[in-house]
Amino acid sequence: MSVIRTAQLMDGTGLAGRIAEETAATAADISRRTGTSPCLATVLVGEDPASATYVRMKRARCAKAGIRSRHIGLPATTTTAELIGTLAGLSDDPDVHGILLQHPCGPHIDERAAFEAIAPEKDVDGVTMHSFAAMSFARPGFVSCTPGGIMRLLEAYDVELAGKHAVVVGRSAILGKPAGMLLLAKDATVTYCHSRTADLPGIVQGADIVVAAVGRPGLIRGQDIKPGAVVIDAGYNPGNVGDVDFESALTRARLLTPVPGGVGPMTIAVLLAQTVRAAAGQLGTQER
Ligand code: NAP
Repeated sequence: MSVIRTAQLMDGTGLAGRIAEETAATAADISRRTGTSPCLATVLVGEDPASATYVRMKRARCAKAGIRSRHIGLPATTTTAELIGTLAGLSDDPDVHGILLQHPCGPHIDERAAFEAIAPEKDVDGVTMHSFAAMSFARPGFVSCTPGGIMRLLEAYDVELAGKHAVVVGRSAILGKPAGMLLLAKDATVTYCHSRTADLPGIVQGADIVVAAVGRPGLIRGQDIKPGAVVIDAGYNPGNVGDVDFESALTRARLLTPVPGGVGPMTIAVLLAQTVRAAAGQLGTQER
C-alpha cells in the first residue's frame, strides 16, 4: 500500500518577518550612529497598475523597517536617455543608498542600458552586470533579490546542497540564471531547463532540489517530483498560483514553498536587507 506523504511547507512569510526585524534593528543602529537613516530610491516608468502596486508594497515595507524611500515616478513617454539621466543622478546623490528600478519599463526602453546606470554600491536589487559578475565569482556584492531569498529559505530549513542535483526551470537574468549560480556556489550539481528543453519531466524526476521559475501555472506536476525532494516555487501567476501543481506536489516533496507565502515575501526582505547593508557601507558604519 502506498504511503501518502505530506510535505512540510516552507514559511517564507515568517522568515521574511524575522529578516525584516533584524533589518529594522540595523537601520535604527545606523540612524543612531550617523544621524542619517538608510534611503531607497524607487523609480517607476509609466503607470502599470501591477508595477505601481509592487513599488507601493516595497515602500511600505521600507517605512516599517525605518528605511526612508524616495519615489520617482516618470511618464510612460520617458526615453532611455532620460531614464539613464535620472538613475545616474541618484547614483551620484549621497542621500540615496539604494536604487530600485521597477521593471519591466516598457518596450521602448533599453532596460539593460538603464540598469547599468545604477552605481554598483547602490544596486540593492542586484540587476547590474557588475553585481551579476560579483555573484558569479563569489565576491562581495548584491545578489538578485528573489534568488537571494530562495537561498535564505534553503539555509533556514537546513537543506543540504553539496553534491545534490538541483534542477532550475527558467533561465531569466534576474531569477533562474542567478538561482542556479548561487546553488552551484554551494556545491550543488545544477541543471538548467528552459523553453527549449527536451523532456522536462524526465529531468525534474532526477532532482533533489527543484526551483521553478517560469510563469506557467502547474508546469511542475507532483508525479514528476522525486519523493523527498525540496521544491521551491518562485512562479507567480494570475490567480495567486505558482508554477508547481501544489496539491500533487504536497504528496511527493519533503519541503515545499506555498504560493503565496513562500518565495514572494523573501524577495522584499532581501531588498530591504541589502539596502541597509548598502547604507552601512556608504555611511562607514559596521553592521550590527
Ligand atoms: P521570464 O523572464 O519570462 O523567464 C521565464 C523562463 O521560463 C525563461 O527562461 C523561459 O525559457 C522559461 N520557460 C518558459 N516556458 C517554459 C516551459 N514550458 N518549460 C520550461 N521553461 C520554460 O520570467 P521571470 O522574470 O524569470 O519570472 C518567472 C516567474 O517567477 C514568473 O511567474 C514571475 O512572476 C515569478 N517571479 C516571482 C518573483 C517573486 O518575488 N516571487 C520575482 C520575480 C519573478 P526561455 O529562456 O527559453 O524563453
